[in-house]
Amino acid sequence: MNEKNLCKGCVESVMVTEEVIQELVKEADEDPSVIVSEDVYHARLKMCNSCPALQYGTTCAHSGCIVRYRAKFKNKSCPFAGKPKWDKVS
Ligand code: SF4
Repeated sequence: MNEKNLCKGCVESVMVTEEVIQELVKEADEDPSVIVSEDVYHARLKMCNSCPALQYGTTCAHSGCIVRYRAKFKNKSCPFAGKPKWDKVS
């Protein structure tokens, strides 16, 4: 890997396998009361996938979160400073 792409101090935690991501998403899906609809989820991920803050195709540079996990939750919002690209759902 090119060292310029390394995230100082947290490389190990931001680079995760597809298997780990699927486990996280499955875990989130276990409580439907806290997660968004499929439509909202896919709209959020569409924003993330076109966002320059998305690192490694998986991780938000602003929150350090795996976006496919964070975007599942109603109470989460995009942490983009000053101009969130998606909001909480009540
Ligand atoms: S959560 Fe917001 S800032 Fe982070 S990658 Fe997604 S759209 Fe970009």
